[in-house]
Order: sequence, then structure tokens, then C-alpha cells
Amino acid sequence: MHHDVTTTRVLMGRLRRGDDLLAALTTLCRDEGVTLGRVTALGAVECACVGFYDQQARTYSYLTFDRPLEILALVGNISLRDGAPAVHAHITLGEEDGRALGGHLAPGTRVFACEFTLDVLAGPALTRGYDEETGLPLWPAG
Ligand code: ZN
Repeated sequence: MHHDVTTTRVLMGRLRRGDDLLAALTTLCRDEGVTLGRVTALGAVECACVGFYDQQARTYSYLTFDRPLEILALVGNISLRDGAPAVHAHITLGEEDGRALGGHLAPGTRVFACEFTLDVLAGPALTRGYDEETGLPLWPAG
């Protein structure tokens, strides 16, 4: 299953220091009425929380990093969940020595500096719903 979509707007900007990264991106989408889109970002965080999905247990475990890290890459999408825009993003973070870590972006990741590009897309709505096979809130499969 896929949807044909077109880019209607591109928003570029910077988040504020101290913002919760996931909440700030979600608020941006709500404020701008974005229900379908993709987001990329880079910058740095003061601390981070990322999830890893345990496929057997069907639960997320979370890792917290209470130190400054670079945002090497953030990639995400925006669709509808429970009638509201939901940002699903994964983040790769860089350590002082150049090593990388990352995961599913979770609340508790605090912005130091973050530059984002948000592509606003138009097309049929994509809505997340519970997927029996994975236990995740996914888009419909074809
Ligand atoms: Zn994820």
C-alpha cells in the first residue's frame, strides 16, 4: 500500500533551547495544520531519551542519556493518530568521540540547538491504527 502525495509547503526553522524535541515538532505540526509530512533535523541536544521496541515483549524499552549529544540526523513523518497530527521520528546522536547511538525519539529529549526542515504533504490521509501482527500503531498495509 502506498499513497501518492505532493509537497505543498516547506517550512524551515529553528527550535528553542530547552524545548522538548518531540513535543516541539508536534506543536509545530498542530499550529501549522500539518497532518501529512516529513521532517528532518540536525543540531544538538542537552539530554536524550530514545526507545527500542522489543518485538517479542511488544513493549518499548527506553534509554536515557543525560549528557550533551549532537543530532547527527533526525528523520520522521507526520500522520494522523487519534485524530491529531503525530510525529514519528528516529534520531541518530553523536558522542564527543564520534561514536553514534540512537533510536525512536521519545519525550525527554531536550533541545540545545535544532534546525529543522518540514515538508508539508498533500494526499489521502494516513491514519495510524493498532496492528495485530506487531503490536504497533501503524499505517494500514496493502
Ligand atoms: Zn519508531
